[in-house]
Amino acid sequence: MSNSIAVENLNVSYYGKDAVKDVTFSIQPGSLVGIIGPNGAGKSTLLKAVLGLIPKDKGHIEILNKSMQHVKKDIAYVPQRNNIDWDFPISVLDTVLIGRYPRLGVFRKPKKEDKEIALDCLEKVDMLEFKDKQIGELSGGQQQRVFLARALAQDAEVFFLDEPFVGIDISSEETIITILKELRDQGKTILVVHHDLSKAKDYFQQLILINQVLIEFGNVDVVMHPETIARAYQGELSFLKELLVQS
Ligand code: ADP
Ligand code: MG
Repeated sequence: MSNSIAVENLNVSYYGKDAVKDVTFSIQPGSLVGIIGPNGAGKSTLLKAVLGLIPKDKGHIEILNKSMQHVKKDIAYVPQRNNIDWDFPISVLDTVLIGRYPRLGVFRKPKKEDKEIALDCLEKVDMLEFKDKQIGELSGGQQQRVFLARALAQDAEVFFLDEPFVGIDISSEETIITILKELRDQGKTILVVHHDLSKAKDYFQQLILINQVLIEFGNVDVVMHPETIARAYQGELSFLKELLVQS
């Protein structure tokens, strides 16, 4: 079976300091995979480098068996919420319509059909009644659902989400994870940066555990082994306590 994401020996640095080092993994279509690791481990950096948003020092990346430039419209990205400008004056519906742009081509405006797709996607995340609100007026969970709707409107094959569950309410979290699992069941590939270990087993079948280097990649039961987690979270005792309480 061909891979939907293949990363080989990836190195990324900022101003000469390594952030991601020698990371290799490959993911098959129909996977919902978590990227876990402590704060500053390089999770967001890994995503951005795979997406081609920041340069890599070395390594080889293929998405859908092609280089990133050739598959851009098949890739949806939901960035970390704290990296988004919430004062930007744009409505909920227009935010979702942005997801249609890669499908429109140059100089083409969204059509009635695109608007219908955007409205369907808003309905799916239970945000239709907010379509005319400004994005800045919404709660964290509502914003995150709108950004998922934008990704859905794009009709992508591969989805990247960076900490989608941080600072949101539990019902938004449930809505989002349910949709991500549906996408997985439709054969899509979803990569989610996630730093809360407590839900990892419920949400993902596979995990990429990093702390600059790749600590472990594989099935969630293997990666969630306490000794493996301890290797990544050295010095972060609170995480280990959390893990022990659950097991
Ligand atoms: P995570 O998402 O796992 O919390 P990041 O990928 O954001 O980690 O960061 C990894 C490391 O790279 C951290 O040490 C962070 O301080 C550093 N870093 C991230 N972004 C930048 C940047 N734009 N410039 C310089 N250093 C950065
Ligand atoms: Mg991050």
